[in-house]
Amino acid sequence: MSQNVLLFEPNKFLYSVFVTIDTAKRPFKTFLSQGTNLTDIPNRYSCVPDPRKPPNKQLFLITQPNRAAMYLIRTPDVIQNLFPNFNWNVPTSDKVLYLTFDDGPIPEVTPAVLTILKQFQAKATFFCVGDNVEKYPEILAQVRAQGHTVGSHTSHHLSGWNTENIEYYHDVRHAANLVSSSLFRPPYGRLKPKQAQFLTRHYQVVMWDVLSGDFDTAISKETCLKNVLTAAERGSIVVFHDSVKAAERMLYALPRVLEHFSRKGYRFEALQASLLHKTRRQVAAESQLMAVASA
Ligand SMILES: [Zn+2]
Repeated sequence: MSQNVLLFEPNKFLYSVFVTIDTAKRPFKTFLSQGTNLTDIPNRYSCVPDPRKPPNKQLFLITQPNRAAMYLIRTPDVIQNLFPNFNWNVPTSDKVLYLTFDDGPIPEVTPAVLTILKQFQAKATFFCVGDNVEKYPEILAQVRAQGHTVGSHTSHHLSGWNTENIEYYHDVRHAANLVSSSLFRPPYGRLKPKQAQFLTRHYQVVMWDVLSGDFDTAISKETCLKNVLTAAERGSIVVFHDSVKAAERMLYALPRVLEHFSRKGYRFEALQASLLHKTRRQVAAESQLMAVASA
């Protein structure tokens, strides 16, 4: 039976692709109907545990009464499997986390992030907005000088859903050229299928499997911290924001995340092109080479 289950707030993230769901095939309805309130989340939210997952791999679906779910702290496998060309995490058995920071670089927040990362000898990846790179090239230079890697996040923080394809590609390309990187993260995780198809040909699209929620002014900084502590595991790609809006929660959670996972023997590394799926263009070029070699 096909049923309209408004699972995800259309204003947020990729997951809104699931607005219409065949509930006979997809397991989402199960955990929507088993919602339990968690006391540390403000009253107007409830937090729905996924009954299929063990406690240490819980997937948190944050919902508001009478509203659709807003976002997920952990990206469910079913979504990851739908977009296999995107990078959701780095498959590894090593104790390593990949922290990422979106929306900078800006003088108000990025240098503070660099200082904290340095204290823990941690490397990370910064998905930069082209506009900010043009305004603050010296901050981008600091990011690079400390050994972090950089990806692009469009020039004007555009949502793919609200932007004509050609305009979006130009905006992406401009930002990618500014930071000279093949790593790209779409703002809000929002891409139309055609854009996703085009972009994975030319870029290594980096999504995430753990969302800190630092951008959410309705959650406490403690909840933001707990989101990451609970959801991150070996090879996770974790989203933070070096933005003014997220700073209060992010600057609280970040050192505690670093402390917690350092104590458990984790390292923090920057994403490299070699760790990610090749672009579809690279894959095509390689298979052509193979064909020539075997001819
Ligand atoms: Zn962003």
